[in-house]
Formats: sequence, structure tokens, C-alpha cells
Amino acid sequence: MTVICWFRRVLRLDDHPALAAAAKNGAVIALAILDPADAAAHPASAQRQAMALPPLDAGLRARGSRLIVRRGDPATVLAQVVRDSGAVAVHTSQGLPFAGDDGLQAAVAGAGAVLHVHPLADLVPRGSVLTGSGTRFKVFTPFWRALRRTPIAEPLPAPRLTAPPAWPASDGPDWPEARRAMDRGWDVVARHVRAGEDAALDQLEAFLNRITARYAEGRNRPADDDATSGLSDALAVGEISARRIWHRAMAAQQDGQGGIEDFLRELAWRDFARDLFHASPNIDRTCWRPEWNDFPWRGDGPDAEAWRRGRTGIAMVDAGMRELFATGRMHNRVRMIAASFLVKHLMIDWRVGLDWFARCLTDWDAANNAMNWQWVAGCGPDASPFFRVFNPDTQGTKFDARRRYRDLWLDPDAVGAQEFADAAPRSWRVDPHDRLAPMVDLDTGRQRALDAYGRFKRRD
Ligand code: FAD
Repeated sequence: MTVICWFRRVLRLDDHPALAAAAKNGAVIALAILDPADAAAHPASAQRQAMALPPLDAGLRARGSRLIVRRGDPATVLAQVVRDSGAVAVHTSQGLPFAGDDGLQAAVAGAGAVLHVHPLADLVPRGSVLTGSGTRFKVFTPFWRALRRTPIAEPLPAPRLTAPPAWPASDGPDWPEARRAMDRGWDVVARHVRAGEDAALDQLEAFLNRITARYAEGRNRPADDDATSGLSDALAVGEISARRIWHRAMAAQQDGQGGIEDFLRELAWRDFARDLFHASPNIDRTCWRPEWNDFPWRGDGPDAEAWRRGRTGIAMVDAGMRELFATGRMHNRVRMIAASFLVKHLMIDWRVGLDWFARCLTDWDAANNAMNWQWVAGCGPDASPFFRVFNPDTQGTKFDARRRYRDLWLDPDAVGAQEFADAAPRSWRVDPHDRLAPMVDLDTGRQRALDAYGRFKRRD
């Protein structure tokens, strides 16, 4: 009996519930689908997925299998591969947002097979960590305490695979639509990616060997490259599971390694975001606190464009936005600073920022991106209050005291600034020695945000 395992943003063999179920039920066709809609909306994340495919294929080949890659709309591709192969079932993982598989179910059924959607190997199944009264947590800290008391399931080993009688045709891993969807020097982004599940496991081990107490403090310093795990893009494309990370980290803690508890707490934010997204699938478009949909946000326009291009004249913001564009990454502290500047000092709608991050980030994750933007904008459940306005200069003094991060991206002779120049489209080219005046005085911008917030609170 032939079955298909559709590798849907879970691009690994280890701890893969859908693959384990497929392998139990027949000879497996491993299938990845490059969806043009995904490439158009999230080109950097799509490119990152494409980079994960050759190592995944190599891992499958080492087990006598191989990866079939097809480009197209998932429902059409699945129906086609089912018909071509005579497969009786398709096994896959939940997608984000969590709802929305009806069209796929119908397409697979129409081709004569059954679609089985398996849970993701997150720390806990969605909706399983609840308050004493059985409701979802709205605040992270009690969620974390409850999760910490919950046994985390052991990761599943990579299964033995049986080859099908014939292999369907494969389009190969190149994804030109993803490259074309954004005018950007992709070779620069590629320099910052270590793709594949073996690379992710190696990165985890290296991180656990050095973590100690340095993580708690160092994780806020953007120039301190090694202080955090750097695993977010591997997690986002599913090259490593959160459960694998958890159990390896717990083993390191038992061996006496320090700093693990702080790290696991950060990792749990990812599950918290997924629980929120599961309960409120619209949080990437509407404010979790509905009254905030009426806040007088400013729309997209030249100010937002200056922010996107890293030309606000505010050093921490511009450094972060240039890092994001050049590398597809941005340090978490700088994400908070750049996002806060957009929604507070410029009062621009958080969705303008969310969409740009979704286009640029190699670690784009629908749930993490939405929850964090709502956190910064003050409209999420466990959010930073709107009246708490980060001063990007003070943040720079505190977390980039020696200016190493700002210099890396803003000094025209530094490697980062040169990478940004290489990655930027022709239309963005400017004299790198230009000294930009701040587009808004920080005190004036802060006061404008607070006044708008005051009027908004009093409006009824
Ligand atoms: P580590 O400190 O090593 O943390 C380990 C893992 O924990 C991370 O890989 C990540 O999966 C999880 N984690 C850590 N912090 C957070 C957090 N605040 N929220 C959710 N999970 C977290 N992260 C994404 O993965 N995708 C996104 O699209 C995304 N968008 C963001 C947008 C904004 C405005 C902000 C402020 C943050 C966003 N984050 C997003 C969270 C965070 O910035 C990244 O996960 C982090 O930079 C990852 O670096 P690391 O792997 O070295 O982190």
C-alpha cells in the first residue's frame, strides 16, 4: 500500500508525527509542495524552506527513500500525486492558521484517498495547558508555570521507510517564484543560513555547551551573536522540533549546565503564541482587544517606507531594519525597538510592520509574528501597555553600549553595511555616507503617541 507524507513546514525526519504515522501504514512517498501563494506573501521564509529541501532529500536517500518536490497549489498537487501514485492516504502536519484544511480534505478525497492531519510536535498539544477553571491562559507567566508542571512528550525517532513501487516525477528544490517575489540579494541571506536538520541539531548542541548564565543577560545584547540559540528559522521551517530542544536542554540541565531555565521559558513563548493563534485565528489581522481596532493608527506611506529601508535617522531602528533586509534575521531586542518606534513614535498601524516582517524574515512564523506585534502595539492579551514607550536611543545605550551593533550596520565600511548595500535593490541606493537627521524628535513623537492614547481612552 502506498501512502504520501506531505512535509508541510516540518522539514525533518526526527520527531515527525505525520511521517511516523505514514511509515506505519505503507510505502512512503515523501512530498514537499512549493506553493506560489506562500512565495508571494513570505518570500524569505519560502527561500529558507527551499534551502532546507536538499538536506532533507539527502536524509531520505540515506534511508532508501527520496524527496519529491512539486510546485503549485497544494490541493491541486496533492490530488495529482494521489492519482499518479494510487496512494490510499496522505499524512501531513497541522498548518498555521490551524483551521482551513477543508479544501485539502475535499481535493484528496476527490482523488480517492484520505487526508490525515497530525498535530505538530510542539511542547504541548494545542489547548492542553489550561487554567484551573479550564479556560485558556491570557497571560504568559501563569501559562509558563502550568507548562513547566506538564510532562513534555518524548520526541519520536526517525522511522524506517519502505520505498514505493515507483517514484512520481519531481520538480527539484529550486523556487524561482520565491526569489522573484522580492527584489533582494538572496546570496547575502544565504550566507546567514545553516540549513538542514543535522545543522540544527549541531547548533543546538553548541548552544547548550556554552549557554550558562550568559543567556539571561546576553540574550538582550544584539552584538553578542552567540548568546542566543539562533534556532528560530530552523524551528520555523521545522528542521528541529521544540520537544527535541526541550529534552536535550533538560539533559544538559541535569548535567549541571546553567541558564537552561531562562532558555526554556523563552521557548515556551512559541507555544503560548500558538495557543493564542489556535484560539483566535484572526490575530494576524485584527487586534486581540477589539477596541484597539478603532485606534487612530496612521496608514502606510513615506514614513513607513523610510522605516522599511532603514532610513529613519534613529540608529538602533535603522541598524535593525538593515540587518533584517540583508540577512532575513533581526535580533529580538531590536525587533522590539524597531516595532515600537513604528507603532508609537510614528503611530503607524502594527499590521504594516507585521506584513514587512512577514516578507523579510527567514524565521517568519504566523503565530510568533502576530503575537509579538500585538504585544508591542499594546493590543494583545499579554501586551506591553501602549503608554510604555521605548526610547530607541536609551535602549541603544543600555543594550549596545559600545555601539558594536549600530556600527556594524551603519558604518559604511563595516561588513554589515556592505552586506546591506549588496542586498538592497537598485532603487534603494543612496550615498552610504549620508548622515540622516531623525525623522521625528523622540520626545515629540512620544508625546504625540501619549496624547493620542489619552484621547483614545477618554473617547467614550
Ligand atoms: P532564543 O533566545 O534562542 O530562543 C529560542 C526560541 O524560543 C526561539 O528560536 C523562538 O522559537 C522562541 N522564542 C524566543 N523569543 C520568542 C518570542 N518573543 N516569541 C515567540 N517565540 C520566541 N519569532 C519567530 O520565530 N518568527 C517571527 O515571525 C517572529 N516575529 C517577531 C516579531 C516581533 C515584532 C518581535 C518583537 C519578535 C518576533 N519573534 C518572532 C520572536 C523572536 O524575536 C525570535 O524568535 C528570536 O529573535 C529568535 O532568536 P533565537 O532563536 O536566537 O532565540
